[in-house]
Amino acid sequence: MLNDQELLRYSRQILLQHIDIDGQLKLKDSRVLIVGLGGLGAPVALYLAAAGVGELHLADFDTVDLTNLQRQIIHDTDSVGMSKVDSALKRLSAINPEIQLIAHRQALDEDSLAAAVAAVDLVLDCSDNFSTREAVNAACVAAQKPLVSGAAIRLEGQLSVFDPRRAESPCYHCLYGHGSEAELTCSEAGVVGPLVGLVGSLQALEALKVLVGFGEPLVGRLLLIDALGSRFRELRVKRDPGCSVCGSRHA
Ligand SMILES: [Zn+2]
Repeated sequence: MLNDQELLRYSRQILLQHIDIDGQLKLKDSRVLIVGLGGLGAPVALYLAAAGVGELHLADFDTVDLTNLQRQIIHDTDSVGMSKVDSALKRLSAINPEIQLIAHRQALDEDSLAAAVAAVDLVLDCSDNFSTREAVNAACVAAQKPLVSGAAIRLEGQLSVFDPRRAESPCYHCLYGHGSEAELTCSEAGVVGPLVGLVGSLQALEALKVLVGFGEPLVGRLLLIDALGSRFRELRVKRDPGCSVCGSRHA
Protein backbone atom coordinates (compact mmCIF):
# COMPACT_ATOMS: atom_id res chain seq x y z
CA MET A 1 0.00 0.00 0.00
CA LEU A 2 0.97 3.64 -0.32
CA ASN A 3 1.49 5.84 2.73
CA ASP A 4 0.38 9.51 2.89
CA GLN A 5 3.84 10.75 1.95
CA GLU A 6 3.89 8.52 -1.12
CA LEU A 7 0.39 9.58 -2.16
CA LEU A 8 1.56 13.21 -2.04
CA ARG A 9 4.96 12.58 -3.64
CA TYR A 10 3.46 10.77 -6.63
CA SER A 11 0.17 12.71 -6.76
CA ARG A 12 0.80 14.33 -10.15
CA GLN A 13 1.28 11.00 -11.91
CA ILE A 14 -1.42 9.25 -9.88
CA LEU A 15 -3.75 11.90 -11.32
CA LEU A 16 -3.26 10.34 -14.75
CA GLN A 17 -5.91 7.73 -15.43
CA HIS A 18 -3.24 5.61 -17.15
CA ILE A 19 -1.33 5.31 -13.90
CA ASP A 20 -3.70 5.96 -10.97
CA ILE A 21 -3.17 4.19 -7.61
CA ASP A 22 -2.99 0.77 -9.24
CA GLY A 23 -0.19 1.86 -11.56
CA GLN A 24 1.70 3.48 -8.71
CA LEU A 25 1.46 0.23 -6.74
CA LYS A 26 2.78 -1.65 -9.75
CA LEU A 27 5.76 0.73 -9.86
CA LYS A 28 6.33 0.25 -6.13
CA ASP A 29 6.39 -3.52 -6.67
CA SER A 30 8.73 -3.26 -9.67
CA ARG A 31 12.42 -4.10 -9.78
CA VAL A 32 14.52 -2.62 -12.56
CA LEU A 33 18.15 -3.07 -13.58
CA ILE A 34 20.01 -0.11 -15.08
CA VAL A 35 23.19 -1.17 -16.88
CA GLY A 36 25.52 1.83 -17.06
CA LEU A 37 25.29 5.08 -15.08
CA GLY A 38 26.61 7.40 -17.76
CA GLY A 39 24.84 9.85 -20.03
CA LEU A 40 21.81 7.59 -20.60
CA GLY A 41 21.73 5.92 -17.20
CA ALA A 42 21.79 9.28 -15.39
CA PRO A 43 18.35 10.54 -16.49
CA VAL A 44 16.98 6.98 -16.46
CA ALA A 45 17.95 6.50 -12.81
CA LEU A 46 16.85 10.00 -11.77
CA TYR A 47 13.40 9.71 -13.36
CA LEU A 48 12.72 6.12 -12.29
CA ALA A 49 13.77 6.89 -8.71
CA ALA A 50 11.60 10.00 -8.66
CA ALA A 51 8.66 8.06 -10.15
CA GLY A 52 8.77 5.51 -7.32
CA VAL A 53 10.04 2.33 -8.97
CA GLY A 54 10.40 0.18 -5.83
CA GLU A 55 13.83 -1.32 -6.47
CA LEU A 56 16.54 0.13 -8.67
CA HIS A 57 19.49 -2.16 -9.33
CA LEU A 58 22.44 -0.06 -10.47
CA ALA A 59 25.34 -1.58 -12.42
CA ASP A 60 28.54 0.26 -13.35
CA PHE A 61 32.17 -0.62 -12.62
CA ASP A 62 33.55 2.78 -13.59
CA THR A 63 34.45 5.87 -11.57
CA VAL A 64 33.33 9.44 -12.19
CA ASP A 65 35.71 11.42 -14.40
CA LEU A 66 35.71 15.18 -14.98
CA THR A 67 34.97 14.58 -18.69
CA ASN A 68 31.70 12.82 -17.71
CA LEU A 69 30.09 15.84 -16.08
CA GLN A 70 29.13 17.58 -19.35
CA ARG A 71 26.35 14.99 -19.80
CA GLN A 72 26.16 12.50 -16.90
CA ILE A 73 23.95 14.73 -14.78
CA ILE A 74 23.50 12.34 -11.87
CA HIS A 75 27.15 12.94 -10.88
CA ASP A 76 28.68 16.19 -9.67
CA THR A 77 32.09 17.76 -9.24
CA ASP A 78 32.47 16.43 -5.71
CA SER A 79 31.97 12.88 -7.05
CA VAL A 80 34.99 12.89 -9.37
CA GLY A 81 37.07 9.80 -8.54
CA MET A 82 34.17 8.11 -6.72
CA SER A 83 32.51 4.97 -8.11
CA LYS A 84 29.59 5.90 -10.36
CA VAL A 85 27.32 3.57 -8.41
CA ASP A 86 28.15 5.29 -5.09
CA SER A 87 27.79 8.72 -6.65
CA ALA A 88 24.36 7.72 -8.01
CA LEU A 89 23.30 6.16 -4.68
CA LYS A 90 24.01 9.45 -2.95
CA ARG A 91 21.89 11.45 -5.38
CA LEU A 92 19.03 8.95 -5.74
CA SER A 93 18.56 8.42 -2.00
CA ALA A 94 18.39 12.20 -1.60
CA ILE A 95 15.68 12.39 -4.29
CA ASN A 96 13.59 9.52 -3.00
CA PRO A 97 14.22 7.78 0.34
CA GLU A 98 11.12 5.58 -0.19
CA ILE A 99 12.81 3.24 -2.70
CA GLN A 100 15.40 0.47 -2.42
CA LEU A 101 18.73 0.82 -4.20
CA ILE A 102 20.87 -2.22 -4.99
CA ALA A 103 24.48 -1.74 -6.08
CA HIS A 104 26.53 -3.74 -8.59
CA ARG A 105 29.97 -2.09 -8.51
CA GLN A 106 31.83 -4.90 -10.32
CA ALA A 107 31.82 -5.62 -14.03
CA LEU A 108 29.15 -8.27 -14.62
CA ASP A 109 30.32 -11.52 -16.19
CA GLU A 110 27.93 -13.96 -17.87
CA ASP A 111 26.79 -15.60 -14.62
CA SER A 112 26.46 -12.45 -12.53
CA LEU A 113 24.65 -10.69 -15.40
CA ALA A 114 22.21 -13.59 -15.72
CA ALA A 115 21.56 -13.44 -11.96
CA ALA A 116 21.15 -9.65 -12.02
CA VAL A 117 18.66 -9.86 -14.92
CA ALA A 118 16.74 -12.73 -13.30
CA ALA A 119 16.28 -10.61 -10.15
CA VAL A 120 14.35 -7.82 -11.91
CA ASP A 121 11.21 -7.21 -14.00
CA LEU A 122 12.79 -4.99 -16.66
CA VAL A 123 16.26 -3.99 -17.84
CA LEU A 124 17.48 -0.68 -19.27
CA ASP A 125 20.60 -0.87 -21.40
CA CYS A 126 22.42 2.41 -20.85
CA SER A 127 25.86 1.08 -21.74
CA ASP A 128 28.17 2.50 -24.37
CA ASN A 129 29.58 -0.54 -26.14
CA PHE A 130 28.48 -3.36 -28.41
CA SER A 131 29.74 -6.30 -26.36
CA THR A 132 27.83 -5.18 -23.25
CA ARG A 133 24.71 -4.58 -25.35
CA GLU A 134 24.91 -8.06 -26.85
CA ALA A 135 25.48 -9.67 -23.43
CA VAL A 136 22.59 -7.77 -21.82
CA ASN A 137 20.31 -8.69 -24.72
CA ALA A 138 21.20 -12.40 -24.53
CA ALA A 139 20.54 -12.40 -20.77
CA CYS A 140 17.18 -10.68 -21.28
CA VAL A 141 16.10 -13.13 -24.00
CA ALA A 142 17.14 -16.11 -21.83
CA ALA A 143 15.25 -14.76 -18.80
CA GLN A 144 12.30 -13.43 -20.88
CA LYS A 145 12.68 -9.90 -19.50
CA PRO A 146 11.79 -6.73 -21.42
CA LEU A 147 14.77 -4.60 -22.44
CA VAL A 148 14.65 -0.86 -23.08
CA SER A 149 17.62 -0.05 -25.26
CA GLY A 150 18.95 3.41 -26.05
CA ALA A 151 22.04 4.83 -27.73
CA ALA A 152 23.38 8.24 -28.64
CA ILE A 153 26.49 9.38 -30.44
CA ARG A 154 27.51 12.76 -31.84
CA LEU A 155 24.11 14.24 -32.80
CA GLU A 156 22.13 11.05 -33.39
CA GLY A 157 20.09 8.91 -31.05
CA GLN A 158 18.25 5.57 -31.24
CA LEU A 159 15.70 3.91 -29.04
CA SER A 160 13.73 0.66 -29.03
CA VAL A 161 12.03 -1.79 -26.67
CA PHE A 162 12.66 -5.53 -26.99
CA ASP A 163 10.12 -7.68 -25.20
CA PRO A 164 10.80 -11.45 -25.44
CA ARG A 165 7.40 -12.12 -23.85
CA ARG A 166 5.81 -10.99 -27.11
CA ALA A 167 6.20 -13.42 -30.02
CA GLU A 168 6.49 -10.67 -32.65
CA SER A 169 9.18 -8.71 -30.82
CA PRO A 170 12.68 -8.70 -32.28
CA CYS A 171 15.69 -8.70 -29.94
CA TYR A 172 18.71 -6.39 -30.05
CA HIS A 173 20.67 -9.02 -32.00
CA CYS A 174 17.94 -9.26 -34.70
CA LEU A 175 18.60 -5.59 -35.44
CA TYR A 176 22.28 -5.10 -34.84
CA GLY A 177 23.80 -8.58 -34.80
CA HIS A 178 24.97 -8.51 -38.40
CA GLY A 179 26.41 -5.00 -38.39
CA SER A 180 30.12 -4.79 -39.00
CA GLU A 181 30.19 -1.04 -38.46
CA ALA A 182 33.26 0.05 -36.53
CA GLU A 183 32.32 0.65 -32.95
CA LEU A 184 32.38 4.26 -31.87
CA THR A 185 32.20 5.50 -28.31
CA CYS A 186 31.32 8.96 -27.01
CA SER A 187 34.86 9.33 -25.69
CA GLU A 188 36.14 9.06 -29.27
CA ALA A 189 33.33 10.55 -31.36
CA GLY A 190 31.82 13.10 -28.99
CA VAL A 191 28.21 13.71 -28.01
CA VAL A 192 26.06 16.60 -26.78
CA GLY A 193 24.57 16.37 -23.29
CA PRO A 194 20.93 17.18 -24.01
CA LEU A 195 20.79 14.42 -26.66
CA VAL A 196 21.73 11.67 -24.20
CA GLY A 197 19.34 13.36 -21.77
CA LEU A 198 16.58 13.09 -24.37
CA VAL A 199 17.24 9.44 -25.19
CA GLY A 200 17.57 8.55 -21.50
CA SER A 201 14.33 10.37 -20.64
CA LEU A 202 12.55 8.44 -23.40
CA GLN A 203 13.99 5.18 -22.05
CA ALA A 204 12.63 6.03 -18.59
CA LEU A 205 9.23 6.80 -20.11
CA GLU A 206 9.15 3.51 -22.04
CA ALA A 207 10.09 1.66 -18.84
CA LEU A 208 7.18 3.26 -16.94
CA LYS A 209 4.81 2.29 -19.77
CA VAL A 210 5.94 -1.34 -19.81
CA LEU A 211 5.94 -1.66 -16.00
CA VAL A 212 2.51 -0.10 -15.51
CA GLY A 213 1.08 -1.39 -18.81
CA PHE A 214 -0.20 1.69 -20.56
CA GLY A 215 0.26 3.19 -24.02
CA GLU A 216 2.15 1.66 -26.90
CA PRO A 217 5.75 0.83 -26.07
CA LEU A 218 8.35 0.96 -28.86
CA VAL A 219 8.21 -2.81 -29.45
CA GLY A 220 8.98 -3.69 -33.07
CA ARG A 221 9.82 -0.06 -33.76
CA LEU A 222 13.13 1.77 -33.81
CA LEU A 223 13.00 5.48 -33.07
CA LEU A 224 15.75 7.49 -34.77
CA ILE A 225 16.52 10.97 -33.48
CA ASP A 226 18.34 13.49 -35.62
CA ALA A 227 19.39 16.25 -33.25
CA LEU A 228 20.88 18.37 -36.03
CA GLY A 229 17.60 18.64 -37.92
CA SER A 230 15.40 18.26 -34.82
CA ARG A 231 13.67 15.29 -36.44
CA PHE A 232 12.23 12.02 -35.13
CA ARG A 233 11.84 9.12 -37.51
CA GLU A 234 10.47 5.63 -36.92
CA LEU A 235 11.40 2.34 -38.58
CA ARG A 236 9.43 -0.87 -38.31
CA VAL A 237 11.72 -3.66 -37.17
CA LYS A 238 10.95 -7.34 -37.50
CA ARG A 239 12.06 -10.36 -35.60
CA ASP A 240 14.69 -12.37 -37.48
CA PRO A 241 13.56 -16.03 -37.45
CA GLY A 242 17.19 -17.04 -37.99
CA CYS A 243 18.51 -14.90 -35.14
CA SER A 244 21.10 -16.84 -33.15
CA VAL A 245 19.91 -15.29 -29.88
CA CYS A 246 16.10 -15.35 -30.03
CA GLY A 247 15.45 -17.35 -33.21
CA SER A 248 14.47 -20.66 -31.65
CA ARG A 249 12.70 -19.37 -28.57
CA HIS A 250 9.17 -19.93 -29.84
CA ALA A 251 9.98 -23.00 -31.94
ZN1 LIG B 1 16.82 -11.88 -32.10
